[in-house]
Amino acid sequence: MIPYSRQDISDEDVRAVVDTLRSDWLTQGPAVEQFEQQLSRYTGAGHCVAVSNGTAALHLACMALGLGEGDYLWTSPISFVASANCGLYCGATVDFIDIDPATANLCPQQLEDKLNRAKQSGTLPKIVVVVHMAGQPCDMDSIRRLSKEYEFAVIEDASHAVGASYRGQKIGAGDFSDLTVFSFHPVKIMTTGEGGAVLGNNASLMARVKQLREHGITRDADAFESEAHGGWYYEQQALGWNYRLTDLQAALGSTQLKRLDEFVIKRNQRAEMYREAFSESPCEPLTLQADVTSSYHLFIIQVDEQKRRKTFDYLRQNDVGCQIHYIPIHTQPYYRRLGFDWGQFPLAERYYRRALSIPLYPALTGEQQMWVVSLLNESLR
Ligand SMILES: *Cc1c(COP(=O)(O)O)cnc(C)c1O
Repeated sequence: MIPYSRQDISDEDVRAVVDTLRSDWLTQGPAVEQFEQQLSRYTGAGHCVAVSNGTAALHLACMALGLGEGDYLWTSPISFVASANCGLYCGATVDFIDIDPATANLCPQQLEDKLNRAKQSGTLPKIVVVVHMAGQPCDMDSIRRLSKEYEFAVIEDASHAVGASYRGQKIGAGDFSDLTVFSFHPVKIMTTGEGGAVLGNNASLMARVKQLREHGITRDADAFESEAHGGWYYEQQALGWNYRLTDLQAALGSTQLKRLDEFVIKRNQRAEMYREAFSESPCEPLTLQADVTSSYHLFIIQVDEQKRRKTFDYLRQNDVGCQIHYIPIHTQPYYRRLGFDWGQFPLAERYYRRALSIPLYPALTGEQQMWVVSLLNESLR
C-alpha cells in the first residue's frame, strides 16, 4: 500500500526518544522548552507554546483572543473540522467564507464582500481562521489589510504549512496574523506523534496561551493576585486545560525539526514531478501562487466530477491510498443541525466533488509516482 502521506522516522529520532525515556522528565520538561525555542528560531516567531495537538492549539488560540458567546468565528469550509470546531468550543457562532477554486484557500474577495454585509448587520467576526490548504500559504497581505479595516483577529491554521514560506518568510513568523497554529500529527510535514504549537509575537497574548495550556495556573510570583503562602504556592487565575506536550514527544520534534527543510524540499521535488506528468492530462493540480513556497502537505488534483469516485476506487483497489481533502465542513451532519446546508458555498462544494489527494511524502519514489500517474491515466481515459 502506498499511503497518501507518511511520517519519516530516522535512527536519530529513535535515539532521541529513547534517551529521553531514560532521563528525569517524561512529561513537559526541558525537552519541551528546548523544542519551543527551536521552533521560534526556525520560524522567526517571538514566542512559541508547544501543546498536545493541533486542535488544542486552535482552542487555546481562540480562548487567548477572548472568543466567547455572542462572538463570530469565520473560517474556510475546505478544511479539517477542527478549524471550525475551535469556535464552537468557545461558545461562539461559526460561519464560513467560500474558497478560491484555483488554490482551495479562502478567497479574500469573498471575505471582503461578506465583511461588508456583516458590518451592516452588526455581525462582524472576532476571529478569522485562515487555512493554508495543502501547505500553500493564503493571500496574507489582503487578509491582514481586511483584518485592520474590519478589526478582527487572524489565526493562521498552518497545520499543513509547517516549513512553508510567504514572501520569503517562514510561516509562523507572524507578520500578517495574531497567532499561528501548527499540527505535528504523523500525516503532516513533521511529527511528534500527536502534537501541536501556538506561535506569536505578542508577549501577553502568548503568556495567556501558556497559562491556559496548564489549567489556567501560574507559578510566576510576579503575576500572583494574592500574597504567596510559601514556596509551594501557585494560583489558578483562569479556567484552562491540560494541553501539555510530553518531553518524549518534544525530543522527537527536535530531531524532526532538523530535517524539516529537507522534508519540504523533497515534497516540492516530488510535486514538481507530478506537475510535469500531468501537464497533458485531465488531472488538474491546484495552482501555485507567486511569492510562496508550499510545504506540500498534500498533492491535490481536480478531476472530472463524473469520474472522481471511480478513480478513487480504482486507486484504492490498486493499493494506492488516495484521500479526499475535505468534505466541506458546513455539510457535515453536526453543522447541518446548526443550520448550514449544501448549496451555501458553491465553489467549495464544486471543488469537493472534483478533488483527489494522491500520495506525497519524502520517501515516495519516482517509480511509485509513475505507477500512481499511470493508474490515474487509465482510470480517467
Ligand atoms: C490536522 C489538522 C488539524 C488538527 O490537528 P491535530 O494535531 O490532528 O489535532 C487542524 N487543522 C487542519 C487544517 C489540519 O489538517
